Parts: sequence; C-alpha cells; structure tokens
Amino acid sequence: MIIVMALDATAEQVDAVVNRLREIGADAHVSQGQRRTVIGAVGDRGQIQQLPWEAMAGVERAVPVLKEFKFVSREFQQDDSVIHVGNVPVGGGHFAMMAGPCAVESRDQLMASAEAVKKAGAVILRGDAFKPRTSPYSFQGLGEEGLQYLKEARELLGMPFIAEVLDPRDVELVAEYADLIRVGTRNMANFTLLREIGRQNKPVLLKRGFTATVDEWLNAAEYIYKEGNHDIIMCERGIRTYEPSTRNTLDISAVAVVKRLSHLPVIVDPSHSGGHRYLVAPLAKAAVAIGADGLLIDVHQAPETAKVDGAQALLPDDFSELMDDLRKIGHAVGVSI
Ligand code: PEP
Ligand code: MN
Repeated sequence: MIIVMALDATAEQVDAVVNRLREIGADAHVSQGQRRTVIGAVGDRGQIQQLPWEAMAGVERAVPVLKEFKFVSREFQQDDSVIHVGNVPVGGGHFAMMAGPCAVESRDQLMASAEAVKKAGAVILRGDAFKPRTSPYSFQGLGEEGLQYLKEARELLGMPFIAEVLDPRDVELVAEYADLIRVGTRNMANFTLLREIGRQNKPVLLKRGFTATVDEWLNAAEYIYKEGNHDIIMCERGIRTYEPSTRNTLDISAVAVVKRLSHLPVIVDPSHSGGHRYLVAPLAKAAVAIGADGLLIDVHQAPETAKVDGAQALLPDDFSELMDDLRKIGHAVGVSI
C-alpha cells in the first residue's frame, strides 16, 4: 500500500500515519518528494488494506500496489531519482556517458582507453577486474590488481569508474574501490548478491537479465532498495530472442516502459546488446532519442588485441565522432551531453 499525503499535510499528520502503521506491525518508508510526502507500507497486506487510511487527517489517498515492487515504483516516488556517481549526477535530466574497455588487461591498456574516452567527453570510466565469461578457460580479469589500475586512472583523470562484481564475497572489495558497482546480466537474479549490494553505501548499476521481463528486473532493483541502498541505475543491455544477427536484441522500448513504472534512471548498453561495432552508433543514437539517462560503451585503443569483446569495441576516434553525433541528437531532444 502506498499512502499519498495531501500537499498541505503537516509533519504531525505524517507521523500519525507512520505510528499507526507501526502499531499494526508494518514498516513505514517515508519518501519526501519536492511537492508531497508518500509513505510506503510494508507488512501484512490484508491487515494494512483493511484500515481506513483515507479517513486520517492529511491523507489524500491510499493506493494498493498491484505490482510486487513498491519502493522503486513511480507511485512511491513521483520525481525522477538523481544518482550521484562520484560527483557525476545521473538521471532527472542529467545524461552520463560511461565508456572504456570491457576488461582491464594491463595498466597501459587501461590508461590509453581512459585518456581517450575522457578526451571525447565521457564522464564515467568503465573497465572490469572481474569478468563473467561463458567459458571457464577464457580470461577472467585481473582481480584486485585491475581495481588498483582503475583507481589510479581515477586519480590521474579525475573520473569516477564503474566495475562489475560477480561474487557476494567480493562486494566489499569492489565497493571499496569503485564509484559505481555493476551487476551484470548473468547475476540480475542472484538475490544473495543483490542483498549484499543493498547493504553497501555505493551506487549500483543493475543490468537487465538477458531473459528477464521488466517486472522481474524491477523486482531485482527492489531487493537492493529494500536493504537500504537507494542509489540504483537501471541498464537495458538487450535480451535473448530468436534473432541471431545481433548478440542480443536491444529492447529499446524498455527504456520508456521502466521510466513510466519507476523513478530510477535508465541507461543503455549498445555494445553488449548489438555485439558488433557497426551497431553501436545506431543503437546509441536511438537510446538518446528515446530518453535514456546515459550510455555504457566499450572503447578499446586496439580492439584486435582485446582479451574480451574486441568485435564490439569502438576505436577512440569512432567514439569521439559518435559523441559529436549524440550531442546533436541530445540538443534536439533537450538533453545536454
Ligand atoms: C559488461 O558490461 O562487460 C558485461 C559483461 O555485460 P553484460 O552483463 O550485459 O553481459
Ligand atoms: Mn564485455
């Protein structure tokens, strides 16, 4: 149940609702919007719905939530969430370009890509120290050594970075280094990992599972939110369909769907959805046009030598050219890139 307070509700009236909820053993989560206060009630559904909330002073309406997710829903919070990654705002009209190599392979490789993406206008560096690979014999990442190089790049370039965490046992380690923790597509439904990340004080980027519905994806975000970490960015990265010409099918409509259902920012990864270099620019342009709050793009200074995903990595010059095109599209749709 979501209890929407009237515009002129007083603090005492909000407290009275919260206290009434606690009396019946329910949890009350108060969201203070710019215009009004909304209270999310969690507990025994039947018991909560039975009480005459709309009869209480200052209550405008009580809305039963049909979806399982509450706190990440638009009903709970009408205003867009703005998530701060280091000093970079994401969402609520703030667009963030995240770019860099898929994996950290060496110090020199990372620095070369990092400098190139920064120069072209990226505001968050990507690069992974832990890689989820289909084959156990493929390169798995440099581990903590990779995180140290990323930290060095941040200090050198003044650019926050995003990195994936695969294992609940590594969450604290990655959270200690990274500015934005990423949950990859394969782990979207790893609820142990989600809960652990929910207890961290670091923003998280939650990729959509490649077989997940939007509803399942938002429920995964709810797992994180419920534990106390409210700084969540959603990332559409394509879903598995019967179409083999792309690595995954980018569900571009999911951006608009999630923005309607949720207050969380939504970004797009055109690299892991398309899977081919030639698709990255057109998909990225579509993402900006539809209103995505950012992009996550693979850039490598020598893709032919890349240990991971070279076929979809942009060269620095191509990335720079793409940034120019995206700025024009951003201008047309009222977004500054
Ligand atoms: C990645 O961004 O490097 C990655 C592994 O993505 P995904 O989880 O979407 O496959
Ligand atoms: Mn990759």
